[in-house]
Amino acid sequence: MKKILLIQTGGTIAMNAKGAGVELDPDAWSKVLYKDIPELSDIAEITTFPLFFEDSSDLNASHWIQLADCIENKYNEFDGFVILHGTDTMAYSASALSFGLKNLGKAVIFTGSQLPMSTIRSDARRNLVNAIELATMDFKEVGICFNDALYRGNRATKMSIGDFDAFGSPNFPALADIGIQIETRVTEQFTSGKFQNKARYSDNIFVLTAHPNLNPKLLGNLNLNKIRAVIIRAFGSGNFCIKGNYSLLPFLDKCREHDVIVTIVSQADFDSVDLTQYSAGRAALEHGAISGNGMTLEAALTKLMFLLAHYDSKTDIEALFQKSIVGEL
Ligand code: ASP
Repeated sequence: MKKILLIQTGGTIAMNAKGAGVELDPDAWSKVLYKDIPELSDIAEITTFPLFFEDSSDLNASHWIQLADCIENKYNEFDGFVILHGTDTMAYSASALSFGLKNLGKAVIFTGSQLPMSTIRSDARRNLVNAIELATMDFKEVGICFNDALYRGNRATKMSIGDFDAFGSPNFPALADIGIQIETRVTEQFTSGKFQNKARYSDNIFVLTAHPNLNPKLLGNLNLNKIRAVIIRAFGSGNFCIKGNYSLLPFLDKCREHDVIVTIVSQADFDSVDLTQYSAGRAALEHGAISGNGMTLEAALTKLMFLLAHYDSKTDIEALFQKSIVGEL
């Protein structure tokens, strides 16, 4: 029987109903786990590991590093890993680990739930059973299992606050669909050697959402001596205001003067940025920006955080950013 390490990090799945809301409850989830889901032991030999208990909005790169270290330390003992995690930033953590866990030869499956495991109509039980089964299979990458689908971690994004179907993977098919059978749709391998824990991330990065009336004067206080990369969440295929007082082009020029990387992702979930299509995109290219193509914000952000921590040269980082490392493009 396959050995799976079940790592608890918090989120709604580890919460309990309290008054009108839910709160983290370190005991509730593990009691339910063994009492109400005995069939888990038919699927795999499971060892639980409470790593930390946090609402996922409180997580940052130090938690991603703890997760990567935990997987590295237990890598040889287990056949696969399941991470219980809050849904709010699950796609960020999954993307970050996809870059940090180099030559991953085993499945690392994130899951969580929209309702606490201890509530009667919770989706936790189904997500957890599915995730454990997937972790025993031949996936060699970081995935997110939610509502009967497995998504590539760095392609997934949280799309719904209220539906059990909380995640989507707008620009890439699900790796597996879970029905009566588990139907694998994509198997790819990104390994070319021994597993290595490379989880290091820089936070000298800033995300700017373009919107009508975004006042470029407000950007004047950004310390471009500290910031090494800016991600602009642009409209549609990569557009933002380039006319009059609201033009962002002078800001792009300032970034270029300070050797700050500027990349453009889209506020639209589906399809890819194309900076050649409209004059704003073409101007962005002329003023030194590069395209984030079809990457989710989560993938673009964590990929840059990872690259900035590992490389110094702006040219190298820009080149690597535009190449697929672990299927994110
Ligand atoms: N706020 C929770 C979290 O991300 C939401 C969830 O788990 O669904 O930790």
